[in-house]
Amino acid sequence: MGEPELRESKKASRFSESVIREMTRVAREHNAINLAQGFPDFPAPHALKEAAVKWIRDDLNQYAVTWGSDGLRASIGEYMLKRRGVSIDPDAQVTVCCGATEAMIAAMMGVLDPGDEFLVPEPFYENYGPDAILAGAIPLFVPMGNGFTLDIDAMRKASGPKTRAVVLNTPHNPTGRVFTRAELKELCEFVIERDLILFTDEIYEEILYTGDHHCPLLEPGMAERTIVISGASKTFSVTGWRVGWIISPPNMTSGIRKVHDFLTVGAPAPLQEAVAEALLWEDDYYVKMREEYRARRSVMVDGLNAAGFPCEIPEGAYYAMVDVRGHQRREETDVEFAMRLVRDAGVATVPGSSFYSDPADGKHLVRFCYAKKIETLEAANSRLLRWAGA
Ligand code: GLN
Repeated sequence: MGEPELRESKKASRFSESVIREMTRVAREHNAINLAQGFPDFPAPHALKEAAVKWIRDDLNQYAVTWGSDGLRASIGEYMLKRRGVSIDPDAQVTVCCGATEAMIAAMMGVLDPGDEFLVPEPFYENYGPDAILAGAIPLFVPMGNGFTLDIDAMRKASGPKTRAVVLNTPHNPTGRVFTRAELKELCEFVIERDLILFTDEIYEEILYTGDHHCPLLEPGMAERTIVISGASKTFSVTGWRVGWIISPPNMTSGIRKVHDFLTVGAPAPLQEAVAEALLWEDDYYVKMREEYRARRSVMVDGLNAAGFPCEIPEGAYYAMVDVRGHQRREETDVEFAMRLVRDAGVATVPGSSFYSDPADGKHLVRFCYAKKIETLEAANSRLLRWAGA
């Protein structure tokens, strides 16, 4: 009998720790301003916190229905109708999860088989790689076109008989792009033509700066093949509450719910009820939130440009991906650059390579998150300016 192998699993060994969360740790070590991990440093809405406190005081302490409380699922249905113009059946289509992170992996494990391939426009949010490994699926990363546009021809070329799905994220992390109606339409036509499933990560659906978010579920022929992932984290500034959800075609819901149930049983019951209330708020909440994000965006963009980081104006989400060549030393990688920035300037970012399958593609990029108080952003800007001029 051989020695037992005391090691991590082969699956776990195929991916590394999250660079985004690692950078948060490094930021703490250096007492730096954390513009790395995407979470707000400002308070969550008062009414939402009061609602959560009330539900806890009322002793809502036990499990909710595994796929989400009736109240929250009904509110998601109302929200989707009112804000997205999409009619869904909360009983047959909604699964509430512990954040969009669990939602994506539960959805993949619920509908994909080992060996299935899915297409992911690149750069991409780092979770999709490990999600694929854990689901036994194979990600096919397809570079975006110039200006971070969807390249459907490249997707067509990359796909083959084993390709089952596409993962889309819009508004997009890390680029700040909001894909146009024309891009979405072309993508959906391709998805239908190849009989694929579209996983659409819409966690930033309320954080965009012009127009409204267009859910691909609205495109003709997409209702039966679109799995929407979203959640409360970004919309209500509660990334630590872990309340996310999946909207799936009815015939895919039971597989997804089974996976979700055995992964986590359910999201926190009192927080589900509080989010159920918030989802029914009037539109003025979103108008104000967007104005505040617009102000943060402009402080960040101005600061970056002033410090010699040429910055396009993000269309959505709360990130700016910038080219750092103006400050990079010869041969210095993006990771080394980000480490130098955190140490010498006291500002933490996420190195661009963590959003690419080949690190070389992100070697001149870093991502700044501006979901921060104006004073945090101003402090970061003056640190960057001082450092850049030094
Ligand atoms: N989505 C956020 C980001 O990209 C937070 C990621 C996380 O830590 N779950 O930074």
